[in-house]
Amino acid sequence: MYDATSTTPARPLVTAPDLTSFARVDVLGLEVVAQQVWPDRAVLFCELAAIDDRCPACGIPGQPHDRVRRRFTHLPVGRRATWLHVMVPRFRCAECGRLWRHPLTTVARPRSKLTRAADWWALCQVVLDHAPISGVAAVLGVSWDTANTAVSEVGTRVLIEHPGRLDGVEVIGVDEHAWRHTRKGDKYVTVIIDLTPIRDGTGPARLLDLVEGRSKKAFKTWLDAQDEDFRAHVQIVAMDGFTGFKTAAAEAVPEATAVMDPFHVVALAGDKLNQTRQRVQRDLTGSRGRRDDPLYRARRTLRTGRALLTDKQKTRLEALWAIDDLAAVEVTWCVYQDLIDAYRHPEPALGKKLLATVIDRIKTGVPAGLDELAQLGRTLQQRRADILAFFDHPGSSNGPTEAINGRLEHLRGIALGFRNLINYRLRSLLEAGGFRPLIHSLS
Ligand SMILES: [Zn+2]
Repeated sequence: MYDATSTTPARPLVTAPDLTSFARVDVLGLEVVAQQVWPDRAVLFCELAAIDDRCPACGIPGQPHDRVRRRFTHLPVGRRATWLHVMVPRFRCAECGRLWRHPLTTVARPRSKLTRAADWWALCQVVLDHAPISGVAAVLGVSWDTANTAVSEVGTRVLIEHPGRLDGVEVIGVDEHAWRHTRKGDKYVTVIIDLTPIRDGTGPARLLDLVEGRSKKAFKTWLDAQDEDFRAHVQIVAMDGFTGFKTAAAEAVPEATAVMDPFHVVALAGDKLNQTRQRVQRDLTGSRGRRDDPLYRARRTLRTGRALLTDKQKTRLEALWAIDDLAAVEVTWCVYQDLIDAYRHPEPALGKKLLATVIDRIKTGVPAGLDELAQLGRTLQQRRADILAFFDHPGSSNGPTEAINGRLEHLRGIALGFRNLINYRLRSLLEAGGFRPLIHSLS
């Protein structure tokens, strides 16, 4: 890569311009012998730079038979496609009678219409610039299938199957999302993320894998499929409230600490607050929420962290809490706010104590009429150790998982959805697998 601060010596100035090196066909083992430029494409006529005429069967030199022309799509110039017309010699063996064509393994993958340089260009467009396959195909002047096959094959072999890809993973996050909506219902995937760079402050989180379904089995099967060394290095598994993930981690990586993510704990409490509000609202007004109902109108204010409330919002809440009939909402709201305060505490050790106090307050003996809160208390008590473990490992938040889910949602948008899970997994990994440094080191 060109680097303005580089100390690399200046390159020689070639006064006889040379298309072979300029168009990067030298690395394919070709030489340009002629060119033809059309408005929509340029054609470079090429010959093999070195000929190997030995018979694949007997190893003796063959007799030249004829030449065939093969066309490849090469690197575009701007948005104009470049074609290579390569003259490929055929030989006949005088010994065994075999007829063969000179191999083009340096030029392209077997049966591919794209040169290896075009493969790499397409992959970089997708991974580095988040280009859709359709855009890459349009610039290259090839079909969507051709571009997709190149990106998939090369991306899988060079990036996804890179032997060092899972090295150094110590903190993983597990989550799920719906990747496809069908008439029969939503289809889910379990998402496994590397949160180690977040904890260490060395970079963004990266997607490690996507597996079909959201179940204990999905996560456990994936963990079991990794090598012993990988499992031995996992120290923390950050997760949501789904107990299946917890059991899978306990069985497959028993030494690792399970951490229930703050985002999900707060979301859980927020859901209970909503349910309480809706129930009280129904009891009082007999309806699900009218626009002029003060409780309904305060639904967003109720979910805002206490520290972030404006004066107007504070006044609105004070007016609500003056109504006796809303006591259940107020009590649940206080617990919700106490949870947020505990997580926001600048001292993790004190935050942990605060949160433990909140759980103790509601784990049992919640008064009648606060069913949602009682349910929340039981859930938090069940996952108490995992919830409090967050404060001992504050870098293990699953928050970045949400960011990756957002990027995959965008990917589903530009790809106009995916119907095939294999393709979805592959494109998701290329999109969010953190391959930028690897690509730069290989380019
Ligand atoms: Zn032979």
